[in-house]
Amino acid sequence: MSEEREREETVDYLVVGAGIAGHHIGALLANKFGPTGQKVLIVEKSPKRGGRAHILERDGYTLDYGIHAVRYGEKSALGKSLIEIDKQVDFLEPQGRSYVYGSKTVDEGAKSFVMFPTGIAEFLKTPLVGLWSFLSFLIKIKRLKTGPLLNVSLRDYTENTLGWDEERRNKGLGEFLFLCAESMMVCPFEDRVSFGEMVEAFMENLKQKISVTYPKGGWKSLFDGFAETIEKNNGVFLNVECTKISFNEGQAISVTLKSSSGDEYEVGVNKDVIITVPVQNIRSVLGELAADSVVDTEFIAQCEALEPTAGVVIDVALTRRITDHSGIIFLRESNSFGQWYSNVESSMAPEGALVGTWLKPMNFADVSDKSKTDAALDEMWKELTQAYPEIENNLAFVRRLIVPMCDGAEVNINQHRFSRPSCEEPIPGTSNVWLCGDSTSGHGAGGDIGHVSVRQLWQKLKKKLDV
Ligand SMILES: Cc1cc2nc3c(=O)[nH]c(=O)nc-3n(C[C@H](O)[C@H](O)[C@H](O)COP(=O)(O)OP(=O)(O)OC[C@H]3O[C@@H](n4cnc5c(N)ncnc54)[C@H](O)[C@@H]3O)c2cc1C
Repeated sequence: MSEEREREETVDYLVVGAGIAGHHIGALLANKFGPTGQKVLIVEKSPKRGGRAHILERDGYTLDYGIHAVRYGEKSALGKSLIEIDKQVDFLEPQGRSYVYGSKTVDEGAKSFVMFPTGIAEFLKTPLVGLWSFLSFLIKIKRLKTGPLLNVSLRDYTENTLGWDEERRNKGLGEFLFLCAESMMVCPFEDRVSFGEMVEAFMENLKQKISVTYPKGGWKSLFDGFAETIEKNNGVFLNVECTKISFNEGQAISVTLKSSSGDEYEVGVNKDVIITVPVQNIRSVLGELAADSVVDTEFIAQCEALEPTAGVVIDVALTRRITDHSGIIFLRESNSFGQWYSNVESSMAPEGALVGTWLKPMNFADVSDKSKTDAALDEMWKELTQAYPEIENNLAFVRRLIVPMCDGAEVNINQHRFSRPSCEEPIPGTSNVWLCGDSTSGHGAGGDIGHVSVRQLWQKLKKKLDV
């Protein structure tokens, strides 16, 4: 990873952004071309790689930027690409179950932990939702064509198609579906989460049989795996911002780069430009758009209007391992979910210690209101310490975060995969500028969108190379 390298005059592929998507696509390209082949250059405006998946090390604890699970482990898009570039990373599954604290279905007076089923057999053991209730729902949704349901909300479907009243929507299967919307889709807003997308994500979960995993060695090992391959080609330039793309008849021919010292220079591009910056910020990469801009301005407006998922996060570092919980833990009162992730990958905390993280998804508009984020964080903390009273006597430190963008796009009825900017076609008006990342049309939900979008784009680029 370089701070400052000799400047290139021309590269074959220019990747903008060194978050996980930039590393992922950059490594696939670099792997294809190797050390002597065509040049792949990744530019990153900040002094650090990682973007929203950056890591912070503090007092022997490793903190992700909020919960960072990898769905489907080695079968995930990330896992498949790491195998493809021969940098396999192990994905660890929680050894324990997932639980709901304070379920609205199980009213026992005092709050308790109730098992959240993550496999068919667990429906036999939990009071949250009965096996038959789940199976009959499963049979119904298996027959559904999801296309027409992409712009139908969870609430619309359960209320108007299934005829559920409020009580049914809040308890049993209704509560289970709400918790799936919260954790799987990061969108606990029943009146807008896309039911069609949710059914697809649900079916994928059942098919893959592995849900939540965490990389051995943490997210650092994912970045290191990709970075090693990238470095064998042309590497990552840190502190370098892409401020403009220049076109000739719709074809990007060069980019303007700006170093941290402020000087600007131009680099020619022979083949393609890949933008991994969230599409809401696309204008900052393309530069000032002239009146006769090749890039469709309506498209830019669509990108800028896309709403991300947002929320608040509490990270808790403890000096002692107060629980062996390792699955997802839902806190029902504060509508947050999280995980003691060092109980999955012990190297994330010092020996005998514990670290966990909880996320409360919020409306994007609400995270800029300090009174709302303070109240949300206080409520989460109160419930977390109620669920685990030993936290307060064993505290190393707490980190409270306001996160204006968790995933680049909330998967709601207006932003399902067909209505987000494509990761499989060049930007309208251009022939060789592509998008990928978690604000594009990648299949799936949450961070998966970004990882899958890279694989989808990669198929297109490979096809282009074969022509
Ligand atoms: C609280 C929270 C929880 C999450 N949970 C999960 C999870 O459980 N699982 C999961 O897979 N994902 C999760 N995510 C989402 C995941 O972090 C993102 O999907 C992923 O990090 C996005 O990566 P990216 O590379 O697409 O974008 P980014 O990480 O945003 O990277 C874009 C990069 O481009 C750089 N950049 C911007 N403009 C320019 C420019 N003009 N020139 C050069 N560089 C530029 C930025 O500095 C940045 O480094 C979570 C995120 C948050 C915040």
